[in-house]
Amino acid sequence: MSQNFVRVRFAPSPTGPLHLGGIRTALYNYLFAKRHGGTFILRIEDTDQKRFVSNSESYILETLKWCRIEPDEGVGVGGPYSPYYQSKRCNIYRFYINQLLEKGDAYYAFDTDIDIDKKRKEYSERGFTFSYNNRVRMDMDNSLTMTKEQLHDKLQSCSSYVIRFKVKPGEKLKMHDLIRGEIIIDSDHLDDKILLKSDGVATYHLANTIDDHLMKITHVLRGEEWLSSMSLHILLYRSFGWTPPLFAHLPLILRKDGKGKISKRNASSLDYPIFPIQWKVPDTQIIIPGYRELGYFPEAFVNMLALLGWNPGVKNEIFSLQELVNFFSLERINKSGVFFDLKKANWFNKKYLNKKKKKCFHFFAKNSKKRFIQCKKDYLWKIIHLTIDRIHFIHEIWEHSFYFFISPSSYEANFFNKICHKKSILQLEDTKILLSNVNPFTSINLKSLFTESQKEKQKIMQLFRLALVGILKGIDIFMIFEMLGKEESIQRIEKLINQIKEKI
Ligand code: GLU
Repeated sequence: MSQNFVRVRFAPSPTGPLHLGGIRTALYNYLFAKRHGGTFILRIEDTDQKRFVSNSESYILETLKWCRIEPDEGVGVGGPYSPYYQSKRCNIYRFYINQLLEKGDAYYAFDTDIDIDKKRKEYSERGFTFSYNNRVRMDMDNSLTMTKEQLHDKLQSCSSYVIRFKVKPGEKLKMHDLIRGEIIIDSDHLDDKILLKSDGVATYHLANTIDDHLMKITHVLRGEEWLSSMSLHILLYRSFGWTPPLFAHLPLILRKDGKGKISKRNASSLDYPIFPIQWKVPDTQIIIPGYRELGYFPEAFVNMLALLGWNPGVKNEIFSLQELVNFFSLERINKSGVFFDLKKANWFNKKYLNKKKKKCFHFFAKNSKKRFIQCKKDYLWKIIHLTIDRIHFIHEIWEHSFYFFISPSSYEANFFNKICHKKSILQLEDTKILLSNVNPFTSINLKSLFTESQKEKQKIMQLFRLALVGILKGIDIFMIFEMLGKEESIQRIEKLINQIKEKI
């Protein structure tokens, strides 16, 4: 196959936001296209008007943009196989369904929902499960069970109908999936799926197959949930006399609680986000934040997502988009479902955060200004270097550094109550004297001052922490002393002494 020949498509239905699985499908298509110098196409599969959600399309476009995996062709870009909305391709589907009818590979079915329910009941009473297939079709109200004249009259009388695919029984259908290998399906087990609905609109199966062929798609990379449709699609290609594209069904992303796959419907019941960017639920005030709003970098999100079902085959896990393109291969995609791990997602963000100290600085500087904090650039930079190891997201920097700017106005109650006695006052007073003699006031010099036994040292350190930070958190205490400087450190110690005195 020529390298330029690869054409893949991401074909979402506009039925709401993309979840992790959806955007991963887009990413793998993008990576595969770019790996082979091919074309990444975006097609909107909007044949199911009942499930149409108005802001989905802009959501999809914005998400692809945020992830920097924008299409080369299709919706929003245009291209030689326009239109890329299935709702605008009805005439094309009509034309091709006629071919199937003429060949006898499809047939009109006039059964109403009530008729079908009745049959289902009858079958179940006889101990069978009803399925509209080769064993049942001759028992139903369709063009296979009527004469040409009857069919003509029925169509003339404007009776409502659907068009079904006529599966030929008795075949062991051999198919190949690039991830799963050979798959054999017994055509006896397939039902006669609807290709054209009673409103004249093509179903997903018909539209998807025709479009993939007409748009010259070479590889179909899509979620595992579509694996069961592959046999019908292969049969449709065969009926049309077309060569099918190569198929690769991507592993499901599973819920950690073992309750199946991640889906839009269970977004609110999960304790981790599943949407790439925020989703405004139409006609409500509800906004569900996505990874973008929660502070993940797109690079980190994309890196994490790429490894959710694909193994690069090397130890390294950090890959830029270009590196992912260079390494990506379908052979290294997992066959089985993968569990999403939020901790790992945060780990990825942290790795990228470490590389984005400048961005961190700008955020920090802006944020400090908003809080009317004035300090030298150097000081902010020092804080960033000291705290970056403790955070996963830029916005966490403030909660890990406020004490460099603000003297505690209260103290962690539990510990404060424990140290509310004279001994603490004496220790703090001694410390004040010690501190005043340290020159220069550096963390190294300070460290060498405190040589008590380990246990006692630990207690004193906590006391200092309470005085300087207010809570028992923060970076190395001697570094905090150095950063605050002698005067401020002593003032904070005095403040704690006064508070203890007030309490006892
Ligand atoms: N419209 C389908 C979806 O939303 C696409 C399936 C496919 O890629 O064939 O998942």
